[in-house]
This record gives sequence, C-alpha cells and structure tokens, in this order.
Amino acid sequence: MKPFKVALPGSIEQASSLQQSFDVPFIAGGTDLLARIKEYITTPEMVVDLKRIGGLGEITSTDHGVRIGALVTMNDVATNLQVKEGFPALAETIGNAATPQIRNMATIGGNICQKPRCWYLRHEGYSCAKNGGSGCWARDGENEFHAIFGNQVCAMTQPSNVAPVLVAYGASIEIQSSVESLEKREVPADQFFLTPEQDPTREVALKPGEMVTAVILPAKNRTERWSYTEAREKQSFDWAQASVTVLYQRGGRRGDHRVILGAVSPAPLRRADLEQIITEGNLDADCIQALQEKIGEGSNPLSQNGYKVPMLRGLMAKAIRKLNDEKKEG
Ligand SMILES: Cc1cc2nc3c(=O)[nH]c(=O)nc-3n(C[C@H](O)[C@H](O)[C@H](O)COP(=O)(O)OP(=O)(O)OC[C@H]3O[C@@H](n4cnc5c(N)ncnc54)[C@H](O)[C@@H]3O)c2cc1C
Ligand code: SF4
Repeated sequence: MKPFKVALPGSIEQASSLQQSFDVPFIAGGTDLLARIKEYITTPEMVVDLKRIGGLGEITSTDHGVRIGALVTMNDVATNLQVKEGFPALAETIGNAATPQIRNMATIGGNICQKPRCWYLRHEGYSCAKNGGSGCWARDGENEFHAIFGNQVCAMTQPSNVAPVLVAYGASIEIQSSVESLEKREVPADQFFLTPEQDPTREVALKPGEMVTAVILPAKNRTERWSYTEAREKQSFDWAQASVTVLYQRGGRRGDHRVILGAVSPAPLRRADLEQIITEGNLDADCIQALQEKIGEGSNPLSQNGYKVPMLRGLMAKAIRKLNDEKKEG
C-alpha cells in the first residue's frame, strides 16, 4: 500500500475544502476505500477522515422525517427502533448486508457512495469509460455479475443493496459543502444515484467538495406491507446478484406502490409497469404470472449474465408471496 496522510478536520467546511483543494477522498468506515488503496486502484496522497466532525453520527426524529447522520454505522441503522418500526425494509436490508464486522465499521454515507465492484475497474491497468478512458471491457468480457439493464455505456451494477430501498421509501440525501452556492441541498434518492448516460465517471450526484451528511427518511410513509428479496452467490461476505424491493401502500392507487430492482442496472431501477400490475391485480397467482412475464422486458443480457432474468422472476414471485404472508399475519 502506498503511504498516505490522514487529515482529521473538525467541521464540514474544513473537510469539504480539504477534499476539493487537494482532490483527495473522504474516508468514513474505510471498508471500501482502504481495500481500493491496498490494491493500488487509488493512490491518494491524503485522505480526509470524517470521524471528528460532530453531528454526523446520530439518528434523530423530526417533523420532516427520520434523519440518519452519514457516519451512523450500518449496524446502528439496522438496530435502531425508529428505523425498524417505520422503515423495516431498510433495517432488514442493511442488517443483512456484508458481514457483522463490516456492518460495525461501515457507515450509511459510505455505503451509498461505495465504488462499483466491476473487476476491470478494480484492477490496475484497465482503462474504461468509468475511469476516464473509453469503452467497456465487461460488455464483451467477464460479465457474470454485471448489469442486464442500461448497460450500453458501462455495465456496472450499483453495489449498495440499501440504494433501491432508499429509492422505494422516497428518501432524500442531504449533501453539504463549503463551496459557494452549494452550501446545503437535499437530493431525492432516485436522483442521487446516476446512470452512465448521465455521467459515466460518477455513480452519485456529488460534486467536488460535497459530502453526504445525512439520509432522510420521509415522515409521510404509508407502507402497509413490504418485501425485499435478493439472491447472492454466498450467504454472507457477498453482494447481491439481483434484488426486488416492493412497497405496498395503504389504499394504494395508480403510482402509489413501489417496485425497485437492484443489482441489475447501474442505478436502482424503478419499474412503473410492474407497479401498475400490482395496482390492478390481487397479489394472486395471475398477478405473479403477469409480473414474471413483464419483469425481463427492456433487458439486454450480456454473454454471461442472462441468468439474472429468471432470477428476477423467482425473486418477484417470492416478494409477492412475502407480501401475502404479512397480510395473513397482520
Ligand atoms: C466482503 C464484503 C461484502 C459486502 N457486501 C455488501 C452488501 O451485501 N451490500 C452492500 O450494500 N454493501 C456490501 N459491502 C460494501 C460495504 O457495505 C461498504 O464497503 C461500506 O458500506 C462502505 O462504507 P464505509 O463507511 O466503510 O465507506 P468508506 O470505505 O470509508 O468510503 C467508501 C466511499 O465513499 C466515500 N464516502 C464515505 N463517506 C462519505 C460521505 N459521507 N460523503 C461522501 N463520500 C463519502 C469515500 O470517499 C469512498 O469513496 C460489502 C463489503 C465487503 C468488504
Ligand atoms: S462495466 Fe463500467 S467499470 Fe466495468 S469495465 Fe465496463 S465501463 Fe468500466
């Protein structure tokens, strides 16, 4: 590993201006960034450690919703009562991601800003559309874990399994910087995660100097039933190959329910066509069949990842059965 300095700013303003002036990364739990530094994928002269900045490590409830500071660990999000009761899909997803050790170190801010797992990107010497070069090695190469939707420019998948759940709940990402005119803003989660068509070099809507300071879950949440299902190669120490998040809204009408696919496209993929089927159906066998027939529409599987289409069909059926089980229990 190439040696680097660690800056320990005490405020958002200091951290932001250090990051921007020296063009160096922020570090939170370090579970993603340090791995990339060890493998010489990134070799910064300095990292800007966020841990001494006050106010980023708490979960608070306001009229606006539940505010989760960017430095709250994944484990603390998963076990927080307000999150468990109000946003159970988030508690379950974040509580089952990675490993207990990683969840104790990793933060929610770092989770939604983690870099893609594409092995070409994480290997020295491969230049592609994402890191300033051109083309995509994965499209005609080893693409088993890559995207089946929206994969024309870059076939990465969004690695955070929390991302689709945040989009489903209509969460916002609070962003701050010391850069003039960009002081503080809130970006809806569905606009925070970028597609390669929007910008192949960025996965999230952060500009130089900007950091995530919180994730805000909305106070108005009418979710009656929910399900999150994912498939992985291994039960732990692994990322999802595909996931389906369904939020079934109380008195749901057209456009109210949410179906978000994860790990099959560069950003979480909202599927209004599947939401429509749920609105019109009875969550019965016919509804499952209609969803399964539709779910692969628009996909463009590469040479090794066609299995993700039947995988999504299976996850979709499981998700609807889980919604029905909740109804029986409730
Ligand atoms: C074996 C293994 C399995 C895993 N499985 C899963 C999984 O199933 N699901 C899943 O979602 N994740 C998984 N992960 C990834 C893990 O969740 C992330 O590494 C972790 O969430 C990153 O958080 P961190 O605080 O350690 O971030 P860091 O490593 O500190 O930072 C990650 C990136 O985010 C940036 N960053 C950090 N904080 C901020 C901020 N506040 N504002 C702006 N930028 C910031 C950093 O500059 C860096 O580029 C896995 C990781 C491992 C090693
Ligand atoms: S999937 Fe994206 S990151 Fe991977 S090689 Fe292709 S362009 Fe690069």
